[in-house]
Amino acid sequence: MQRFRVAVCGAGIGGLATAVALSKYDDIDLDLYEAASKLTEVGAGVVVLPRTWDVLEKLGISEDLSKKAPQQPKREQAPSFTYRKGDEAEGLHIDVLMIQGRLIPLHRAEFQTTLALHLPEHYRIHTSKRLKTYTEENNTIALEFEDGSKETCDVLIGADGIKSVTRSLLMQSLASKTTDTARSDSLLSCIPPEWTGVAVYRSLVPAEKLRSKSPDNPSLVRETMYMGKHGAIVTYPIMGGTIINTAAFTVRHDLAGTPYEGSWSEHVDANEIGSTFAHWEPYVQAILQCMENPLKWAIHTVKPLETFASGHVALLGDAAHAMLPNQGAGAGQAVEDAYILATLLGHPSTKKENLSKALSIYDAIRRPFSQDIARRSRLSSQISSFVSKEIEGLSDNFDGLQGQAKVDALKKFSSTLKNLTQWSWHTTIDTDVERAVSMLEAL
Ligand SMILES: Cc1cc2nc3c(=O)[nH]c(=O)nc-3n(C[C@H](O)[C@H](O)[C@H](O)COP(=O)(O)OP(=O)(O)OC[C@H]3O[C@@H](n4cnc5c(N)ncnc54)[C@H](O)[C@@H]3O)c2cc1C
Repeated sequence: MQRFRVAVCGAGIGGLATAVALSKYDDIDLDLYEAASKLTEVGAGVVVLPRTWDVLEKLGISEDLSKKAPQQPKREQAPSFTYRKGDEAEGLHIDVLMIQGRLIPLHRAEFQTTLALHLPEHYRIHTSKRLKTYTEENNTIALEFEDGSKETCDVLIGADGIKSVTRSLLMQSLASKTTDTARSDSLLSCIPPEWTGVAVYRSLVPAEKLRSKSPDNPSLVRETMYMGKHGAIVTYPIMGGTIINTAAFTVRHDLAGTPYEGSWSEHVDANEIGSTFAHWEPYVQAILQCMENPLKWAIHTVKPLETFASGHVALLGDAAHAMLPNQGAGAGQAVEDAYILATLLGHPSTKKENLSKALSIYDAIRRPFSQDIARRSRLSSQISSFVSKEIEGLSDNFDGLQGQAKVDALKKFSSTLKNLTQWSWHTTIDTDVERAVSMLEAL
């Protein structure tokens, strides 16, 4: 017998992971609504952290994904990112990040397609369905789409990305119910995404092209981060090492919170990138010269929300916690949201009558964790571009430092980055799952 009907709004990595996670429970029915006319992802890479990989194993898709990864996932100590100081004519090797497990670099489209292939046939996927509004009455949600069509469901999961309509409606609904003006203002202030002062040039660089220009380029063989004042370049091989995923960041944290003038995402001329990083080391120059069809993205984030859920509606992924990409964690956090949410909804004690309580447990478990990762991502963005003011004991003044003294000063930045990222291989989702289930069983 059917327990309840779930509507997932948005078929990005978060929405698809939710559908895959819920497919374990035969008595939950699901409709997936996607605004685009087909399931597409940007042509770029995504790294999967060890903690996220464990969740993908639980979802039963890691085997298919690992066929597409250039490195096989292992749980032993392994080298990961090579850190270099890249913003000078002569670059400098700083350190190699050693982690427990592997970062699994994937092409986004491969990730999304693999998730979609694991959806059960009886789930209904509706493309060209852009949610316009919803109303909640007597524990039922009425959905209305931009094309004028209407549907209903028992639970609405807003996985509709950084510009989420679901978040906007949820925050407006909560604001309308409070008499506290400060709280109402705070809720409404979380609707528009906020510019971080960071922009990124992204491109997929053919490895052969780079090899012919720069045969010993470290980016050809391993994950590499070139750090510099007000910028960082992150590269990693994907698709069996044939493509080098490249993201070149310009960082102005002093502009965070100011309006971004212009399009959030646009094609740019390669000359713009060349002149921005003109003084960087030759390895970087070679990579930038090989960039094809570069896209510039203005990185926006979502302010920390007061809640991820209210009534029978929950937010997930970027809709709930869009963050800076410097921990390579945004999609992974969406996958974690999906797994915890599905565990709670699928639990036999969750019924139509207590859905809102199950969703409030989802909020209690996932909000603090994901917001902490967003904080770590913001700090990582600062550290990788030598902004040190929020970390005690760090100085970004390397003037007059030579040889080992300079490397030692730089190593403080790379070890701070490591400390900020260790959660991703030193912790697992299991304790959160246990906590969620025991909170549910105690209701
Ligand atoms: C430069 C960069 C690098 C990154 N690198 C990494 C990385 O290495 N590792 C990592 O884990 N994360 C990374 N991220 C973060 C990651 O891309 C996001 O966190 C993740 O894609 C969010 O997935 P999502 O499903 O929540 O949202 P989205 O991918 O934005 O999907 C939302 C979906 O909802 C649909 N939609 C929107 N509005 C509506 C509506 N009203 N009705 C119906 N459908 C709607 C959209 O069309 C879209 O398909 C990076 C981000 C950036 C910018």
